[in-house]
Amino acid sequence: MSVAGSVFFSKDCHLSPGRFLAAMEQELQNSGVKFIWGAEVTGFEKESDRITAVKTTQGDIASDEFVLASGVWSDEMSRELKLALPMQAGKGYSLTVTQPRQLPELCSICTEARIAVTPMDGTLRFGGTMEIAGINETINSRRVRGIVRAVPDYFPEFKESDFTDIKPWSGLRPCSPDGMPYIGRTKKWKNLTVATGHAMMGLSLGPVTGRLVAELLAGEKPSVALPLLSPDRFA
Ligand SMILES: Cc1cc2nc3c(=O)[nH]c(=O)nc-3n(C[C@H](O)[C@H](O)[C@H](O)COP(=O)(O)OP(=O)(O)OC[C@H]3O[C@@H](n4cnc5c(N)ncnc54)[C@H](O)[C@@H]3O)c2cc1C
Repeated sequence: MSVAGSVFFSKDCHLSPGRFLAAMEQELQNSGVKFIWGAEVTGFEKESDRITAVKTTQGDIASDEFVLASGVWSDEMSRELKLALPMQAGKGYSLTVTQPRQLPELCSICTEARIAVTPMDGTLRFGGTMEIAGINETINSRRVRGIVRAVPDYFPEFKESDFTDIKPWSGLRPCSPDGMPYIGRTKKWKNLTVATGHAMMGLSLGPVTGRLVAELLAGEKPSVALPLLSPDRFA
């Protein structure tokens, strides 16, 4: 390995997001949650300081409470509600090798190359880059090559050619100007809670954000003080 040293974080952990979400969906369905897939939100019905329904491509959905958690699309979606949730899309890529030559047990961050390496159910995922190029999920092959070229420095058994047939995945991280998520109620709308802007940490922070949102919706005191995360801080 062409590395000078490394730091071991004993409390670091990792998971397979696909399996996590499938289990979560099942659990929620068992608890009576109804999913409406493929329904695009196109607007809102409002009455004074309350939202009464979301307009979707599958009809209006009325509710007592609404949670806005639409990632990089939150900024645009919140404009009709006259909120200010400035957001940049931080595009990242990952390549998952299904039969890796080396399969480390631990995940690692290769600092100079800015790539994260995660074993997932016998596969090995290499992810990285932070490309600020608007809401655009196209693949920039130069960026992907940057990830592939760096791998053998850290995992010498790999060759660049191992990645030739692997389809890169791209995703857009929702990044706020101050790097903090937007979590909480807004001054304008009494029955809206915002939960977005987690940038590079959405999977890790999802559980605590979920807990905070549940506390807010239940009228309880949030277990983490929310002023720094206020969705009104750029209004
Ligand atoms: C390469 C890469 C690696 C990453 N690695 C990690 C990691 O190791 N650990 C970690 O914690 N995080 C990681 N992240 C970050 C994490 O993926 C994000 O923070 C997280 O996905 C954000 O979740 P979200 O639910 O807020 O937004 P999204 O996952 O973007 O979900 C928003 C949803 O809203 C939907 N939506 C938008 N507009 C509408 C509309 N009008 N109507 C209906 N639906 C709509 C979208 O379709 C989407 O499903 C990584 C990201 C990338 C790109």
